[in-house]
Amino acid sequence: MKILVMGSVALDTVQAPTGSVKDAVGGSAYYFAHGARSLASTAMVSVVGQDFPEQELRDMDELGIDRTGLKVSEGKTFRWEGRYLEDMNVRETLGTELNVLQDFVPFVPEHLRRSRLVFLANMGPETQSAVLEQTKKPWFTACDSMNLWIQHHQDRLLELLRKVDMFFLNDEEARMLTQKTCLVSAGKAVRELGPKWVILKRGEHGSMLFGGGPPFLLPAYPTERVKDPTGAGDSFAGGCLGYLAWRGSVSEEALRLLWLWEVSWLPSRSRSSAPGD
Ligand code: AMP
Repeated sequence: MKILVMGSVALDTVQAPTGSVKDAVGGSAYYFAHGARSLASTAMVSVVGQDFPEQELRDMDELGIDRTGLKVSEGKTFRWEGRYLEDMNVRETLGTELNVLQDFVPFVPEHLRRSRLVFLANMGPETQSAVLEQTKKPWFTACDSMNLWIQHHQDRLLELLRKVDMFFLNDEEARMLTQKTCLVSAGKAVRELGPKWVILKRGEHGSMLFGGGPPFLLPAYPTERVKDPTGAGDSFAGGCLGYLAWRGSVSEEALRLLWLWEVSWLPSRSRSSAPGD
């Protein structure tokens, strides 16, 4: 079952208590695709500039990621810069250079329009909707978002939420979107906005699933070695949808099993020069 992801492909500069890295390849679609590709055939729609490392494109080919929808445009690749505080659950964005993302109009190549699963990774809700409109009867759709869109493009985001099956967001975003402090109430309120399934990400505290029966909670894999959490949410979504594609069904039981299953399957991935290396 083919998965189509649309999102950013970026060069990230990250500062963390463990060290720092400049222009590391990242982006929401990049991380998602790497999380999903070992479980299901994965294709990407995005854009990079001419400064994007050729070797990274070849690496994607070698990993079997279909990048026919990844456009190489004149100009510079999207750049994001962030800093993690001592508590690495807390991150601040230091800067964003949109570059080729500024005028990006997503185009889904003909052979990808019938992809069964569609993931709209973090991008403006208008761009996410434009991709959904080009696809033909996907079996399952999911999206991610961020505080920027919740604060400044909420109407477009709410429009999108009425059309997707699953929404991934973190605790802070859920509280911002629903104005509810209690996470159980916030998760339920997000479901009322449209998605049948809501996955609330809580960093080192694990995640919560809303949909079907009562909320289901899963702790995170316990580890003391966190170097750089950038892309953790996107990789997690990649693992989730990769599993659903592999299994070929979505039910509360399948999703509950996913948590147990994913812990032992998370693809190991490392940045070429991760902070702390
Ligand atoms: P995550 O840690 O899962 O929230 O994802 C971090 C990734 O999102 C980084 O690799 C960034 O390049 C990318 N990113 C940050 N801000 C944006 C944005 N406004 N639009 C799209 N992607 C972004």
